[in-house]
This record gives sequence, structure tokens and C-alpha cells, in this order.
Amino acid sequence: MKSVLVPQYRVVDTVRLPAGKTAIIVVDMQNDFVKPQGKLHVPTAKETIEPIRRLLEKAREKGVRIFYTKDTHYDDDPEYDIWGEHVKKGTWGWEIIDELKPREGDIVVEKTRYDGFYGTPLDDLLRVYKIEYLVIVGTVANICVLHTAASAALRWYKVIVPMDGISALNEFDYHASLRQIDFLYKGIIVESVDGIIFE
Ligand code: ZN
Repeated sequence: MKSVLVPQYRVVDTVRLPAGKTAIIVVDMQNDFVKPQGKLHVPTAKETIEPIRRLLEKAREKGVRIFYTKDTHYDDDPEYDIWGEHVKKGTWGWEIIDELKPREGDIVVEKTRYDGFYGTPLDDLLRVYKIEYLVIVGTVANICVLHTAASAALRWYKVIVPMDGISALNEFDYHASLRQIDFLYKGIIVESVDGIIFE
């Protein structure tokens, strides 16, 4: 198999964001993706739980709005032909993991494809709250995270992605996602959630 190097991308230590114009988007941190018994387990996703928890805690203290996407499928969804059955609505696997359970006031958006904006009210809700900056975390880095980041950037939201907040099935997918977010979508890659300051 031919191997290639992922080109370099820019990483910053710190980013300061206006709390009132920023939202967090937690992408698909559902049992089927995060838990070993899940139907589409991403083994490295568990390492992102604690950083995402810290990010949400910090965001809540500053009144930053929190959105979750929830990948959602029904019977005979064509995505099952690609991935097998996963996150079927109403099942345990569909639920967001207990460690990151949404709280009152958080907004949960059900989506049927990789992109959190496609066919959902996400863009409208973000505009209602005059959000300009999106901190995107969750899984899978090169699938739903990247599609959602891309879709956000096409709508001119400024995208910020902490490296310890996303996970992929292999290192190439992980770094290729960050490369695209930096190079193509002009997002900001920050080394850790701890470098994100809401003010
Ligand atoms: Zn799916």
C-alpha cells in the first residue's frame, strides 16, 4: 500500500472567543460510537470525553450556548448499507453518553446524515442567537465532525477545533481532517480545550 505524509497544519496554543457569540457543537457523542458495546465503536473517542466535559463546564460558567448533534436513523435507512445499523432512534446506542448528558437549556439537533446542518434547524438556531464562532468537538473526525465543520465554514461561521476534542478510527483520518479544517475551511486548530478562553 502506498503511504503519504499529511501536510502540516497550523496549531495554536490559545484562542480567545467572545462568549455571547460562540456556541459549542458536540457532534455525535452517542453510545454506538463511544462505548465498546456500541455498533460503530471508535476506540479513541473515550479519550475525548474528559476534555469535552471540561470544555462544557467552562462554557456553562460563561453562558456559552451548547448544541449537540445526534446522528439519527430509522428502519431501512440507506446508511445501514454502508455502516450497518447504528444509532437507530429510541435505542440505547442512539443516546448521548451519560458522561456528557445534555442539561436543561442545551439544544439537541437530530441529523440523518454526516452534516449537522443538512436538513436540520441548526443554522437557523445559530442565527437566532447571533452566533459567529463554533467550537466543534466529537466524533468521527473525518466524517460527521469534518462535514459539520465544512458546512459551518461555507456559511461563514468561524470554526475552532481543539485537538483533544475529536477522534477518528486511525491517525491518517484524524490528521487529514485537521489539515482540511485549517487549509480549506480556515478554521483554527487549538492544541487543547484548555487553550480556549471565553471572555
Ligand atoms: Zn449515521
